[in-house]
Amino acid sequence: MTPNAATDECIYEADAVYVGILLFGSRICTQCDAELPRNTDYFKADATRAGGLRSDCRRCARSRAHDRYERDPQKKLAADRAYRTRLGHCPPRRKAAAR
Ligand SMILES: [Zn+2]
Repeated sequence: MTPNAATDECIYEADAVYVGILLFGSRICTQCDAELPRNTDYFKADATRAGGLRSDCRRCARSRAHDRYERDPQKKLAADRAYRTRLGHCPPRRKAAAR
């Protein structure tokens, strides 16, 4: 990607945020203090929260999930395996004891 293309992308992103704020109202991320449109393109849905959205933006949520994975990958993989097992998408590993 050329530097000019990167700049165009940033301008386009800024326009999208501005139009989104006009259309949906704004919400300020509690982690990065960015003012973003109040919709699920920018905040993950969470039915337990007032307004139905999480308080941190998708970018911050993603970066924190990445940091958690970097700190302890096995914990995340075990949680994913437990989730899939609970859904019945994969049976518990039979060979686990042999390893
Ligand atoms: Zn944020």
